[in-house]
Amino acid sequence: MVRITEAEARSILTPQRSGALDGAYAFTLNPYRGCAFGCSYCYAKWFTHHTDLEQSWGSWVRPKLNAPELLYHQAHKLAGASVFMSSATDPYQPAERRHRLSRACLEVMLSMLPGPAKVTVHTRSPFVLDDLDLLLRFGERVQVGVSVTMDDDGVRRLFEPHAPSIERRLETVAALTRAGVRTRVSVSPVLPSNPRRLARLVSEVTTRAFVDPIRFPRPEGYGREIYSAHHLGRFLRPGHADAVARELRTALGEENVYYHPRK
Ligand code: SF4
Repeated sequence: MVRITEAEARSILTPQRSGALDGAYAFTLNPYRGCAFGCSYCYAKWFTHHTDLEQSWGSWVRPKLNAPELLYHQAHKLAGASVFMSSATDPYQPAERRHRLSRACLEVMLSMLPGPAKVTVHTRSPFVLDDLDLLLRFGERVQVGVSVTMDDDGVRRLFEPHAPSIERRLETVAALTRAGVRTRVSVSPVLPSNPRRLARLVSEVTTRAFVDPIRFPRPEGYGREIYSAHHLGRFLRPGHADAVARELRTALGEENVYYHPRK
């Protein structure tokens, strides 16, 4: 049971000055606080700065009801800028079906003249297809990234039990690509998989991929215990992410796979 509490935000655009998105995007945009998918490894729970919210991550969502209005008043910042939606929530989690905040934010950005030069929508959810009409209106300025972190739905149930199945995600990418939307698959973080099979599945639905190894900046929790409980420890070796990137590069071409190896 996910507790939904409507809220008002003070701001909606977060400048990117550090972290994985620094340099690639000027702003991140999160229409929701919290995420019903509650992935075991999710780093966004740390950003709550609140022990109860961190520990109950996945069981609460706060739709930011004024997100579109706040965004509308930031038009001067977005002219020619790049926006990542979203870094700390899934913009197409089930609450979006009721609140339509991600849709409204896309509509606001489309109405800006000049608007953002680049918008990346990042999700695990087929509900992104609800907004295909808007995505097509962005043309080359938009790309949709869908996280496909493994090739096996049994493994997915261990790490991401409340998120859509691998099959539905792949079908979503395929539908977007067929419709003419620029797509990529994000293997981020790299979870246990058969690299060759994963690369084959990805290459059937898109031409580009992003690969990022799993990191554990904190010693406790965040999915690490799942590896030992299910004898998956071998997939934590850096060689596994290297193999995933190698197979994807073979399938998609070197230039179409971004890989940032773990140091
Ligand atoms: S979908 Fe993204 S934001 Fe939501 S819990 Fe999973 S990793 Fe975190």
